[in-house]
Amino acid sequence: MTYSILVPVKQVADSTARIRVRNDGSDVDLSGVKMAANPFDEIALEEAIRQREAGMAREVVVVSIGPRTAQETLRKALAIGADRAIHVLAPREIEPLAVAKVLKKIAQREAVDLVFLGKQAIDDDCNQTGQMLAEFLGWPQATFASSVRIAGGEITVVREVDDGLETLALSVPAVVSVDLRLNEPRYASLPNIMKAKNKPLAEIAVEDLGVDIAPRLTLLGVREPDVRQAGTMVRSVGELASILRLAAGRI
Ligand code: AMP
Repeated sequence: MTYSILVPVKQVADSTARIRVRNDGSDVDLSGVKMAANPFDEIALEEAIRQREAGMAREVVVVSIGPRTAQETLRKALAIGADRAIHVLAPREIEPLAVAKVLKKIAQREAVDLVFLGKQAIDDDCNQTGQMLAEFLGWPQATFASSVRIAGGEITVVREVDDGLETLALSVPAVVSVDLRLNEPRYASLPNIMKAKNKPLAEIAVEDLGVDIAPRLTLLGVREPDVRQAGTMVRSVGELASILRLAAGRI
């Protein structure tokens, strides 16, 4: 039995980009900012490709919901090794609840068996989509996977929890969200970047999916973090100890 794996990939500001807040504090200003795949989604994609290479998956389908620029990120995912891509064209950023509804539709239309997705998007830090998707599909889920093994119609996931490692067995179909230590994603080679140009990339307008994507949240404002106070250098451990003693006395 081999599976079809769906990997949702969100296009986010590159993790090395310097993000500014708009002067009016209404949001961050992404104009001219380099965009890239959400790093956790690259890990999910790498895992799906490895499963295909190990003969456990027959197909890896990537999907991104967002503006037209999301297609650059999908092309890169195809160059890394996805078989085909789906772009759900959305006019603006949509909330995790709506993303989960859209992903449910896509998972059903494409009749996939597994969804591997990032544990969180680094722009909204929501960590919500996978959990809501599993509920909407009625599938078992394992979050924060640090190891994934597929065998005998079952998927075994190791999760890093506060007290150590937890191992779960899930029946397929299932949703798995991945954590940082699962693997190290590969880079796209130049020949694969060229080949990716001919891989299928389908476009669907979000309105055609019949999903309610109306926002439920209102962004009230964004501000830069407080500037950190400069520290002072102490000359010796003894000096540090007396400063700490004084501070403790004040508590
Ligand atoms: P979040 O719940 O927003 O932290 O996102 C968790 C995961 O859901 C991400 O790592 C992606 O795999 C997926 N996801 C969220 N938003 C999108 C999107 N617009 N397009 C594709 N995948 C998404």
